Amino acid sequence: MAIEHIVILGGGTAGWMAAAALSRIRDGRDLAITLVESEQIGTVGVGEATIPPFVDFQKVLGIDEREMLAAAQGTFKLGIQFVNWGQVGESYIHPFGAYGYDLNGISFHQVWHALRQRGDKRPLQAFNLETMAAYFGKFSRTEDYDRDDLPPMNYAYHIDATRYAQFLRQYAERHGVVRQEGKVRSVRQHPETGFVTGFTLESGVEVEGDFFVDCTGFRGVLIEQTLQTGYEDWTHYLPCDRAVALPCNRDDGSPPPPFTRATAHRAGWQWQVPLQHRNGNGHVYCSRYMSDDEAHDILVNNLAGKPTAEPNFLRFVTGRRKKFWNKNVVALGLASGFMEPLESTSIHLINTGVNKLIATLSLDGVHEAQASTYNRLTVKEYERIRDFLVLHYNATRRDDSDFWNYVRTMEVPATLTEKIEIFKANGQIFREEDELFTTTSWAAVMMGQGIAMGGTSPMADGIADVTTKEVDEMEKSIRWLVQHMPGHGQYLGKYCPAPA
Ligand code: FAD
Repeated sequence: MAIEHIVILGGGTAGWMAAAALSRIRDGRDLAITLVESEQIGTVGVGEATIPPFVDFQKVLGIDEREMLAAAQGTFKLGIQFVNWGQVGESYIHPFGAYGYDLNGISFHQVWHALRQRGDKRPLQAFNLETMAAYFGKFSRTEDYDRDDLPPMNYAYHIDATRYAQFLRQYAERHGVVRQEGKVRSVRQHPETGFVTGFTLESGVEVEGDFFVDCTGFRGVLIEQTLQTGYEDWTHYLPCDRAVALPCNRDDGSPPPPFTRATAHRAGWQWQVPLQHRNGNGHVYCSRYMSDDEAHDILVNNLAGKPTAEPNFLRFVTGRRKKFWNKNVVALGLASGFMEPLESTSIHLINTGVNKLIATLSLDGVHEAQASTYNRLTVKEYERIRDFLVLHYNATRRDDSDFWNYVRTMEVPATLTEKIEIFKANGQIFREEDELFTTTSWAAVMMGQGIAMGGTSPMADGIADVTTKEVDEMEKSIRWLVQHMPGHGQYLGKYCPAPA
């Protein structure tokens, strides 16, 4: 059956990202797109830290970066600072750009290791532009200096989730998406195929469609409540199952730092996401080891200023839907699964989900091969991200609570064990297929949390003898660039100031 009407159910970040992106395939075609959302239910209201591919999502839609950042009280993000993860009192930055650059095809961190063994004292961080700019609270875009001899600046954004969804709503409506207010009362399915054909809202309004995108958050109204797709539970690897979110002011009036901070606590961790007008904060914790009251108190005692809202308590089960595309329904966002926001990957998965959907969609109907390809690729994406998140917990030396004792000694996916073992042997990291996280990402977290390269790569060892000048140049150019950059707050004030 031809697809003439796509219905998106849900108007959180997932729903409006899907609507904005799908609206671009409407142009010149006989294709209707409706988004149904319920103000009574509302959105999850969190999810404010992103990663660099999100910058490209705006570019593909032709969204002006300055306009979007001003509308969403946005700031720039150069990476994530992890505090207290390897051991209490330690910290490191997982940056978005690379450590140095590959020399004769060898990763820079391996060459650096060989240099260290020859007595070079410089820390690896000195060879990463984003880390150095983050430490000094500086920011510039590559376009601002535009010099081939200087490294590019890789960044993402911090955004106010509610304002960003509003911004995308305006965009999608301008491109022909029709919004329908209402809460779904009942869903209709085709008696033979089980395909969803439409639903009735509590107001009595009937909505019919040929293809459905389920963006109903944890509820999964179509993918789970209707199609009973099933869920693969990953709580044994990622045991945190609660969060409390609480935005606050920055009482000291300091400019927003250009990075997210993730501070580990006794049974979980706290995020701090600096926006122009406030900080987003939350404490992700494990209910097996910590009560809601204690989690709330820890959060309140670690804020940069006065709370600007009531605490928002959330419950979740880490894992993924058994199928992301089932019959004529594709689930995006929280309806598709959830992994805690330790590396800001949820909005990214919405982004790649929409991209895959648009790439596989055919307006002549739904074919089984589309669903199986979409599901296979998405499972891989989820699993690679899961392994990277598990690394943060498992690679700890903390033994100060039952929670850390559990995650330090728990069984981890075999794919992760293999990655760690190879790294320990000579620092080699193999980036699997299209996996999101780069060699620098894996190296940053492993070394940041105390996993050391044991041996030396013979290739890197050979290169270290002849590259001192190039390595010196890398460090010098980063130092020079950071010295000449404006402060992050100053940059925002000129480039994309948000209304007071
Ligand atoms: P929601 O925001 O819950 O929206 C669901 C929509 O469905 C709403 O519009 C609702 O009205 C509608 N709806 C539901 N049921 C019905 C019904 N019966 N009838 C009609 N409408 C209905 N991601 C990141 O990338 N970075 C982060 O830093 C980050 N932090 C997070 C922190 C926490 C604690 C949590 C829980 C998530 C975090 N995420 C983060 C994930 C991010 O918040 C989500 O991926 C994103 O907000 C998308 O949510 P959503 O649109 O899927 O769901």
